[in-house]
Amino acid sequence: MEILRLPVLSDNYIFLLYEPSLKIAAVVDPAEADPVLQYLHQLNAELVAIFNTHHHGDHVGGNTKLLQSFPQAIVYGGAEDRGRIPGQQVFLKEGDRVSFANRQAEVLFVPGHTRAHIAYYFPPVQLGETGELFCGDTLFAGGCGRLFEGTPTQMVNSLGKIRDLPDQTRVWCAHEYTLNNLRFALTVDSQNLDLQRRFETVKQMRERLEATVPAILGEEKRTNPFLRWDQPNLQLQVKSQDPIQTFARLRGMKDQF
Ligand code: ZN
Ligand code: FE
Repeated sequence: MEILRLPVLSDNYIFLLYEPSLKIAAVVDPAEADPVLQYLHQLNAELVAIFNTHHHGDHVGGNTKLLQSFPQAIVYGGAEDRGRIPGQQVFLKEGDRVSFANRQAEVLFVPGHTRAHIAYYFPPVQLGETGELFCGDTLFAGGCGRLFEGTPTQMVNSLGKIRDLPDQTRVWCAHEYTLNNLRFALTVDSQNLDLQRRFETVKQMRERLEATVPAILGEEKRTNPFLRWDQPNLQLQVKSQDPIQTFARLRGMKDQF
């Protein structure tokens, strides 16, 4: 399985999963249809699945048009998103499995950004392969999604599930927000050397207009304040020793940043 990253709109990424031996593809969170259709045409590939993480327009906007060209494609989304995802046929819950080519993904229920948000985790099947996590707007490189429909408790739970995955996991988040996220992170975790180094690297990458996605989960664990609610220095920063409250206060500060 190859993963292609298509930048669309102002800062969204669509991910195309492609299996060259079978000439089939699947798409994660198609904000728009046209760039996906162009790629499929170039690859001469058939679209067999649309994997949606949540119902927001910048994640499902291309569903209907893609289905017009590929009416056999199966549209997956969270069970709680029933009625909100165009064309949805499969209603997924925590622990469900979906497959593409020779890979299987586990579904994680990760409410917080929305009440129905799910993530797809493809564990490595062979030695030397990485796990692939498609987490929509739950975890971002250096940050996390805003809480539109969920509570801090839900989001900490959701991010906790992600934090439990192996360090080598590649994090395919749906937006290029990394530089600004790290700018905020430095205001609350200024002594973190890994974070300082990462900020410099990302700054240079963005000057060259390079994508910073996928991120590597191990680096997120070391540098992303929204995975570090139990770090004493961050707790000190927000004057709390409670993980949920620490997270909630950091999220509140980021909302104002
Ligand atoms: Zn969203
Ligand atoms: Fe989004």
